[in-house]
Amino acid sequence: MNEISGSKTLHRLMYRSHFTIPRADLDEAITSIISTSIRNNRQVAITGLLLVYEDDCIQALEGPAEAVLTTYGRICNDPRHETPIVISAGPVTAREFGDWNMCARRLTPADDAILKTLGAHGTLDPARLDGRKALRLLKSIRGIQERTQLQAMR
Ligand code: FAD
Repeated sequence: MNEISGSKTLHRLMYRSHFTIPRADLDEAITSIISTSIRNNRQVAITGLLLVYEDDCIQALEGPAEAVLTTYGRICNDPRHETPIVISAGPVTAREFGDWNMCARRLTPADDAILKTLGAHGTLDPARLDGRKALRLLKSIRGIQERTQLQAMR
């Protein structure tokens, strides 16, 4: 295996999917998913971010290629969501979400200010995101998340 395709090479995979559970139960489900994710991802050096918007989600997974693919395979079989679609996947030179084994942010249309900052004009359609836009969106969320955490620590 060469440097680029080797199973230990740093990879990032981004996908989108649709939650199957009722919206009212989402917060509880996300809390459970994040707690499992942190436990599992830590063991295989995966970091990432999960953005939830209404019933949809976009997730970035980054880490050694083999670990990313194994984790994504498990996620695809999870009945709590459906029709996962890969937005982009491939080797990267650095992590973008290295601070979190997994972290979630839930946005709703009520988060007008945040959506406007993201250029989403009050609505966000994950189906229209290509790899570049999805990464930009998740990096913006990373920035918001970091600022929120800093404020909470003051
Ligand atoms: P456990 O958490 O012990 O779960 C055992 C089995 O029960 C699994 O098959 C699981 O799918 C299923 N299960 C657990 N709770 C429920 C429930 N409430 N309803 C239905 N089935 C349930 N896992 C990661 O490791 N890393 C991630 O980054 C990650 N991201 C995720 C993102 C999304 C959007 C979703 C929906 C799931 C994600 N998961 C992630 C969870 C993943 O799908 C698996 O559930 C998990 O990895 C299994 O971990 P475990 O083997 O420790 O089993």
